[in-house]
Amino acid sequence: MRITQEIESGTPHGLQLLRDASREGLTLCFPGVGSAFARKNNPTCLIIAKGGRTILVDAGTSIPGTLETRGISITDFDYYHVTHSHADHIGGLEELLLYSHYVLKKKPQMILTETYRDLLWDRSLRGGCEHAVGGTLGFDDLAEFVVPDQVATEPRELYEVEVEGIRLTIFRTVHIPTGEDNTRSAFWSTGLLIDGRVLFTADTRFDQALFEQLPMDRVDTIFHDCQLYEPGVVHPAYSELKTLDADLRSKTHLTHYGDTFGEFDPAADGFAGFAQPWAVYQ
Ligand SMILES: [Zn+2]
Ligand SMILES: [Zn+2]
Repeated sequence: MRITQEIESGTPHGLQLLRDASREGLTLCFPGVGSAFARKNNPTCLIIAKGGRTILVDAGTSIPGTLETRGISITDFDYYHVTHSHADHIGGLEELLLYSHYVLKKKPQMILTETYRDLLWDRSLRGGCEHAVGGTLGFDDLAEFVVPDQVATEPRELYEVEVEGIRLTIFRTVHIPTGEDNTRSAFWSTGLLIDGRVLFTADTRFDQALFEQLPMDRVDTIFHDCQLYEPGVVHPAYSELKTLDADLRSKTHLTHYGDTFGEFDPAADGFAGFAQPWAVYQ
């Protein structure tokens, strides 16, 4: 994929621009490319568009306000997907659910596996969303669900779903490993393979096995989280990603990066570069 344009701040109908562009084919845009602790960029968040339909992947606390800078409401998307429960990925969801319920009287369509749907509600969203005047609400009072099919358990859990001609393969990542090695995680975290062509890791530790266990033959673009200080613990350090082979590196745009990005030259190190906020990738 390459950058075809940028959606500038103050653009009144940014999502319509993406919908129109996506009639040409798969289109991606990152309202945020930053880490959980970044100030120069918003937390990493991805818009997938194809054939005029849109999916928002993750919505950290500042994302509703970030979207507004391009004339987009958090409630405007056709579908939502969530990779894991850190606040830089889910902090904006309460606004999505409560504004949709009380103001718009509609239910967002959320693409969530059964396991994660229950975790997301019980451990996170329920605290702020459950109580209503005169009773309580369940997750299914506030959202509708598209439930992917589980297609593999070993060596890595995989789930698949197709919505509006967009094929998503959801794979478990090892963002917070249970032990010292990368083989298990009690923490639910996932990444996405989009149309078999674009790999988005969301948040993961450095995980070389990922590239051996996923069907990589058609992947031409990778968006990989990256930590700019050492050592990498729950994200890959830049130095670890530099050990990927040259072919993988050349396809890799770095996401989820901290504010010291000006001290790095990813192109000189064989990467495609830092992912750019509000750039339109097609
Ligand atoms: Zn994160
Ligand atoms: Zn995280």
